[in-house]
Amino acid sequence: MQSQFVPRTRKVRILATLGPASETPEVIRKLAEAGADAFRINMSHGSHEDHLRRIETIRALEKELDRPTTILADLQGPKLRVGRFAEGKAKLEHGQTFVFDREEALGDATRVTLPHPEIFAAVEPGTRLLVDDGKLVFRVVTASPDRIESWVEVGGTISNNKGLNVPDVVLPLAALTEKDRRDLAFALDHHVDWVALSFVQRPEDVAEARRLIAGKAALLAKIEKPAALERLEGILELADAVMVARGDLGVELPPEEVPPLQKRIVEAARRMGRPVVVATQMLESMIASPSPTRAEVSDVATAVYDGADAIMLSAESASGDWPIESVAMMNRIATSVENDPTHTARVHFTETLPDATTNDAIAQAASNIVRTVPAAGIVVFTSSGSTARRVARERPTVPLLVLTPSQKTARRMGLLWGAHAVRTRDISDFEEMVAKAKRMALRHGLAGAGDRIIITAGVPFGTPGSTNVIHIVRLVGDELERYRRPA
Ligand code: PGA
Ligand code: MN
Repeated sequence: MQSQFVPRTRKVRILATLGPASETPEVIRKLAEAGADAFRINMSHGSHEDHLRRIETIRALEKELDRPTTILADLQGPKLRVGRFAEGKAKLEHGQTFVFDREEALGDATRVTLPHPEIFAAVEPGTRLLVDDGKLVFRVVTASPDRIESWVEVGGTISNNKGLNVPDVVLPLAALTEKDRRDLAFALDHHVDWVALSFVQRPEDVAEARRLIAGKAALLAKIEKPAALERLEGILELADAVMVARGDLGVELPPEEVPPLQKRIVEAARRMGRPVVVATQMLESMIASPSPTRAEVSDVATAVYDGADAIMLSAESASGDWPIESVAMMNRIATSVENDPTHTARVHFTETLPDATTNDAIAQAASNIVRTVPAAGIVVFTSSGSTARRVARERPTVPLLVLTPSQKTARRMGLLWGAHAVRTRDISDFEEMVAKAKRMALRHGLAGAGDRIIITAGVPFGTPGSTNVIHIVRLVGDELERYRRPA
């Protein structure tokens, strides 16, 4: 069956979080039609039953629309929380003393339980404890294995189970909690394409998750801890993609430090050829309003000009009043930026020199060819997706049509810059390669009569890691009728 979608040539991908506002097959379908390339299932909220329903809906839609659709399961990670209060909450004043301890009694305005022994061992006098997204700030005065006495720097109301951040120290926390392990097993059982790891601190955290995932899904590391920034390259080395998780990053660090970090993370990820997602508060006001602020529009545009692979919606699509409008707005902003004649130059401001590999030689050559002669797109034959990732890393001026026999590869492409994946049978000779590339480029709206396309593939065909062919062809009129018919 042919795709029901208008051909899409947008390069930046849109990742939309699903939640109560986007449960039904109708809404999820509309999100996809409005431009969502990938869906995030947030394991911090909802039951496995809820998540399974969403996964099944996406897979049914994928079949109906005959296009690979990407599912990312986002694990909650070691999110720290304070205990509960006798009255549900307590009001704390600037300058007072407040104690975090290991007692079981409910808290009050003088103390509360902190059910994380690791924190007691890691903090020192002067260490900051941030509660409720940083709204309350505490300074450690003294710390022992079962009691932290603190000075309230910024007071306010503290309430049951509020989140706690300790940005100043690397906590010896397991990368995956018991809940994460259960959620991961569930996600892998239901064949999600990507797993996101929250609060990554060290490359070892990524390595541990990789071992558990065992190749069943690709792995995205969320960069939201200052400690992760110190070992960014090591984390990128082991992860398949990263996210600039600006929500928690802007709590752990002063918010004004987040924009330069966004630039740094996007650039490092692009250099290493790892897809990078820019996330959180991108169209925040659209949670409650059908139109965004000008500043938000500008923020989305900046991520596109930075050359990010994907931009993400959180509550805007998961629990807001305008989920479809949010995706449509992102699509319009991205399209507008990508149509700006200066877009390419701005994206190429970040230099990404190729590695000394055949794969990169081909990827760079393909990108150079489309700068020399007009072409409608690059058709990439790939089994593992690695050729597609290296071509996308070049940020060519045209979209990629990724042809792969692997459903797994096709589905993982939804976070990759410029990639439009189609699952198709493997080719066995050169003539078939050219015919299939033309047919698919035409059928999927990448090219029309008279257009030139660039093809990359590996000979012998069907051997992973063998990309060594680059071929330029033009779609000629009399072939088109033949190719238009389904094969
Ligand atoms: P979250 O991650 O929405 O799971 O917290 C993103 C972020 O922190 O920005
Ligand atoms: Mn986060």
